[in-house]
Amino acid sequence: MKLTIAIDGPAGAGKSTIAKILAKNFNIMYINTGSMYRAITLKALEQNIPSGEIEELCRLTDSLDMYFQNDRLILNGEDINDKLSLPEISSKVSHYASIPEIRVRLVKLQREMASKFDVVMDGRDIGTVVLKDAAFKFFLTASPEERAQRRFDELKRKGLDVNYEEILKEIIRRDFLDSNREVDPLRKAEDAIEIDTTGLNINEVVNKMSSYINKTLENIFMGDINE
Ligand code: C5P
Repeated sequence: MKLTIAIDGPAGAGKSTIAKILAKNFNIMYINTGSMYRAITLKALEQNIPSGEIEELCRLTDSLDMYFQNDRLILNGEDINDKLSLPEISSKVSHYASIPEIRVRLVKLQREMASKFDVVMDGRDIGTVVLKDAAFKFFLTASPEERAQRRFDELKRKGLDVNYEEILKEIIRRDFLDSNREVDPLRKAEDAIEIDTTGLNINEVVNKMSSYINKTLENIFMGDINE
């Protein structure tokens, strides 16, 4: 059986931290789809391509070689991950990510990755669009204030000069854009398990998810033996 874990949820819900731990524990690959949309945004900004220039953006997307190695996105052979969480990328990424032509290309790539490996993949549309048949689907949420605080702490640790109120505003704005766009909006898949991580630490969330996965795998295994 293929082990495919889909994790969706808004910015700062803890998806990537949790996905990395699950990938390690289950010895599977972690695919961070947000970093793929951020990479397109980074390159588009570097080349001064606005989000209205669809043809240019398609050409740019087609010219980029993306793969994941040790939880990190490698873009045209270069590890650009440190640039991807910069505030200027966070504030523009939802505009580029709402372009259907870009989504089609990245979704195709994401499905190809998942067809080759056992994966845990996180994003906004993984359970609803990219991996509709995933064996496990989770939807992580937390209050905007707690998510902003986590982002603030994370960026501070990276040595960036950031402001909590601005991050909170940015998170609320991005939630709105991601949830209200026409193509593949952020929403919980009907068959996803929702976990509100407000007030929970990372280990508590990982334990909840892991025990659900292990129990389900055990039941499948026992079912196979009893047949
Ligand atoms: O997960 P992260 O916050 O890095 O994602 C950055 C942005 O990329 C999101 O706010 C969203 O606009 C876009 N995104 C998306 N679909 C995904 C993953 C991310 O539209 N599967």
